[in-house]
Amino acid sequence: MNILNQRNFSAGPGALPSAVLEQVQQAIQALPETGVSILGMSHRSDWFMGLIHEAEMRLRTLLAIPQNYHVMFLQGGSSLQFSMIAMAYLKGTGKTAAYMQTGYWSAKAPVEAALEGDVHVAWSGEAEGYQSLPSWGQLQIDPQAAYLHYVSNETVEGLEFTDHPKGLGVPIICDMSSNLLSRPIDVSAFDLIYAHAQKNLGPAGVTVVIVKDAFLDMARNDLPSMLNYHTQLKAQSVYNTPCVFSIYVLNLVVQWLLEDVGSLKAMGELNAQKAAVVYQALNLFPEHFRIHAKLPFRSQMNVAFRLQSPEKEREFLAHAALEGFTGLEGHRSLGGLRISLYNAIELVAASELAGFLKQEAER
Ligand SMILES: *Cc1c(COP(=O)(O)O)cnc(C)c1O
Repeated sequence: MNILNQRNFSAGPGALPSAVLEQVQQAIQALPETGVSILGMSHRSDWFMGLIHEAEMRLRTLLAIPQNYHVMFLQGGSSLQFSMIAMAYLKGTGKTAAYMQTGYWSAKAPVEAALEGDVHVAWSGEAEGYQSLPSWGQLQIDPQAAYLHYVSNETVEGLEFTDHPKGLGVPIICDMSSNLLSRPIDVSAFDLIYAHAQKNLGPAGVTVVIVKDAFLDMARNDLPSMLNYHTQLKAQSVYNTPCVFSIYVLNLVVQWLLEDVGSLKAMGELNAQKAAVVYQALNLFPEHFRIHAKLPFRSQMNVAFRLQSPEKEREFLAHAALEGFTGLEGHRSLGGLRISLYNAIELVAASELAGFLKQEAER
């Protein structure tokens, strides 16, 4: 793999495994199975229906998705799910929906939901600048709430939940855009999970939705077809032209996880090692590197931090570029710096970056 791909710590779109990129390169010329370019394959072909089926089956295996859950491949990114969920489960119900506000992304979701119905903030970390996460017992949730929505990994601030909600008594909806497939999860703890592809699953364009049968049945049905979970499910994710290419690459990524990495347990252990190497390097120089998240909440996927001044940060980025490290700028809303350690980042690249961090601090 070329060095810039290997050292691409971008927060999204994230780097993809080199084995996948090689297959994609070939598929753009001609798919081995059809002789036709992936970019010209019909979404109504048997080949594509087979591909969708294969991608679903592989996701089911990898995540141990129970039989009573549907898997859908939708469009519009996670931002459209912010609206689609509220239209399906809040609009016209007379209920309120509970939202946890733990960072930039989870704070965006209730803004969209408020266009459809009443929203209640069950917990907010805004006042302290999103540096920590609540425990499940701290939430204030109306037992009649239509659902509770939260984000499992705050991509911008670098905060990650390591456990699942339990015993809250309302349907649980989780945006896992930046950590789905990075470690094992218990799908049965959720009513609806969604994640767009461009952080860990593949290229932008496809959004995976995993939803419990009984919860899908409760979704509102009188919505525009594209925004209606019932229509999308009935059409097996091919109501209109889907993003054939993105689904193709997602299937390769899931195959890579199953066959090369082995399992989500193995992936999770590797991700934990990568994160440990990077945090260790940062922690050696607490005066120099100021990590945004408080200790127990630090994300394995995204590490947001600052230096003493924006000038030092600019210098850091310039030095990083000289060594081939890219994608280290913080999110525009927060500034500072950010290291994203998605699945495709290899341990050796994380170690090389850790070496660079030490070198910078000692400069
Ligand atoms: C990046 C991100 C989003 C936004 O996704 P789009 O596909 O760009 O709409 C939403 N939620 C989380 C947690 C993210 O990391």
